[in-house]
Amino acid sequence: MKGTVTDSKVDGAPSASTPCWMIVLVVVSLIIAIAVGIVIEKPHLAGTQGNYELALKIRDYWDKIGVDSVTLTPYTVELSYPNVSDLNYVEIVDENGVSVYKSDLKFPVLRNQDNKTNIVTPFSAYSSKGDVKGNIVYVNYGRVEDFDFLENNASVSVDGKIVMARYGKIFRGNKVQEAERRGAIGVILYSDPGDIAADKTDTVYPDDWWLPPSGVQLGHVRMSNVGDPLTPFYPATATAYHKKDPDEYMPSIPCHPIGYGVAVDILRSLNGTEVPFPWRGKMNTTYRFGDSFHNNGWKAHIHVATYPKQAPLYNVIGIIKGEVEPDRYVIVGGQRDAWVFGALDPSSGTAVFLEMARVLAELVTSGRWRPRRSIVMCSWDAEEYGKIGSIEWVEQYIKPLSGRAVAYLNVDTALEGNYSLRALGTPLLYQPLYSAAQKVPNPNTSEIAAGRSTVYDTWFITSPRSDKNVPRISLPGSGSDYAPFRDRVGIPIMDIRYTWDRKMWKISKWPMYHTVYETFYLVDQIMDRGRAVGQVWLEMIRQLSDDLILPFNVTDLVSTVSEQTASLLQRFGKVMHENGIQTEILQEAVANLTDSVNHFEHELHTFNKQDPYLVRRINDQLMSIERSFIDPQGLPGRRYKHHLLFTESSMDNYAGSSYPGLTDALTRIVHGENVKAQWDVVHKHFSVLLFVLQSAQSVIKDTT
Ligand code: ASP
Ligand code: CA
Ligand code: ZN
Ligand code: ZN
Repeated sequence: MKGTVTDSKVDGAPSASTPCWMIVLVVVSLIIAIAVGIVIEKPHLAGTQGNYELALKIRDYWDKIGVDSVTLTPYTVELSYPNVSDLNYVEIVDENGVSVYKSDLKFPVLRNQDNKTNIVTPFSAYSSKGDVKGNIVYVNYGRVEDFDFLENNASVSVDGKIVMARYGKIFRGNKVQEAERRGAIGVILYSDPGDIAADKTDTVYPDDWWLPPSGVQLGHVRMSNVGDPLTPFYPATATAYHKKDPDEYMPSIPCHPIGYGVAVDILRSLNGTEVPFPWRGKMNTTYRFGDSFHNNGWKAHIHVATYPKQAPLYNVIGIIKGEVEPDRYVIVGGQRDAWVFGALDPSSGTAVFLEMARVLAELVTSGRWRPRRSIVMCSWDAEEYGKIGSIEWVEQYIKPLSGRAVAYLNVDTALEGNYSLRALGTPLLYQPLYSAAQKVPNPNTSEIAAGRSTVYDTWFITSPRSDKNVPRISLPGSGSDYAPFRDRVGIPIMDIRYTWDRKMWKISKWPMYHTVYETFYLVDQIMDRGRAVGQVWLEMIRQLSDDLILPFNVTDLVSTVSEQTASLLQRFGKVMHENGIQTEILQEAVANLTDSVNHFEHELHTFNKQDPYLVRRINDQLMSIERSFIDPQGLPGRRYKHHLLFTESSMDNYAGSSYPGLTDALTRIVHGENVKAQWDVVHKHFSVLLFVLQSAQSVIKDTT
């Protein structure tokens, strides 16, 4: 097997004398299960004692196993919690104001073993406080196109109404934002069995992995990804200035999540026209647009007493010092906080992460290996509130990170199923991931018998790219802690996990996502692919931290840029041309960049690898190419988003978008919104894009 831990400092040739990752991992695989148990024993919500205690446990553990330096980075930030003496709910009241249906004030416990203290009660974090009463309009998934359909095809306005949206398809905050933009006074979010229980409402947790009627998805509903609401752009340290005016990304209407147990009663009581087929979920009722109730005088009522609170956060940062280039950082980070137990999100990842740390530390302390570059391991706080721990850390260390960080690997939920690998990432890291997955044994023994011996083999069969002979890796949105590393620093990112069979179950999230039922029992009984995920990560870490030349594939980067350019022009080329934009110049800039990359690739294979200065120069160029796409001025209308080629979509935080500045403005133009102003945006941004593409070319060209 190619790739041992010490050989690659010289030339990547295999050496028989050094231990290989696989052997180490085989020995330790069972420890992951134990680690899962430790990290999800108690609720560990951000800003609470439970998550602080977990930070201390991880700090002490990393210290004990011999990580070179371990520190906590504290911040004080504004989080959001339900009021324990005034719990939130949604209810339907009759003409006399008497409650007919009401959502659970607390989560029902379904297994005695899961009955623990400090379980948070139902709420949407960062919802506005308030009591609103009115009619309900059912808005399907609450996407822009759903609201458009309501207005244009069904003639139903949400202005002054409470909207009821099913979870799924897009980030929940986008639903609330769009509802508010269209004049809604409140939002009820619910989980529909069509999206989280398929048609299996008869076998649900604890008998199966499907969501029970009382399952409620928690989650924050704030927009944008700007970290702590009170300290934009700068770290929330002790000396930080706290802004006084309210955060513009907070919703200003109340929002509350419920389960399908009560949602079915609410939908059943709605009047109005029947919705079209694609809008129907799988509850046992006729789905209607609503806007009135069958019973005259009935009203919906949302009561939210959730409040903002300044709370302490702690990231745990552990560093394994590089031997040759300690000032180059391979960053591996993972969310630690959870809405409740977070058995899958994020604790399946935390357990794998702890085990990876143990393997790395053991290699270092036993003297068998030390990486060429430093490995910086980060356990993030408050991911669930909008990646706050990682964003504050990036804000604090933006200068050294800009100069020294090599790549960012994100270990959030490691297991959301047992079926195959799923990856989100930027193109420079495609090849390191492919080659790592090719080295890891397939955890499914019957697939090995069928000839698929590695993780890669199954991944390729289950999720092939339609245009190339490799598995699909999607462009990331901003659904986890990788976002600030791409958006603010311009470093390549990757996020992987084991997932379910997505062709069989067309669901956006695993059924128990963000609910109180994400318990140890669920992972222990139902999912077990942690070892394979850890092995893939470790092999990627080995390459990035130890290969003499950074294993970035610049050809993948430029070919992705050309593909994205082609698809942008296919969509908007005609209208751009008609409005005086010379799209050929963009194609030319991409072609020039491609030429320079081809030339550079040739140099990569031929340069003198014995010359340490040349090695450093080439690696610096490899690191700089993606940085070239960063513009501190930010995307038009999105000051926090500095990566001009890739970021999340404005319509869905979970989806990736390429050429986001042009795509947003041109989409608005096509919809007839502010057309003149948007064309100004397009003209200006187009020239900035040319500048960043040319900058990428300058850094990759000969430096002499
Ligand atoms: N991952 C979290 C969520 O999906 C936080 C975020 O993406 O902002 O809610
Ligand atoms: Ca901040
Ligand atoms: Zn997560
Ligand atoms: Zn989450």
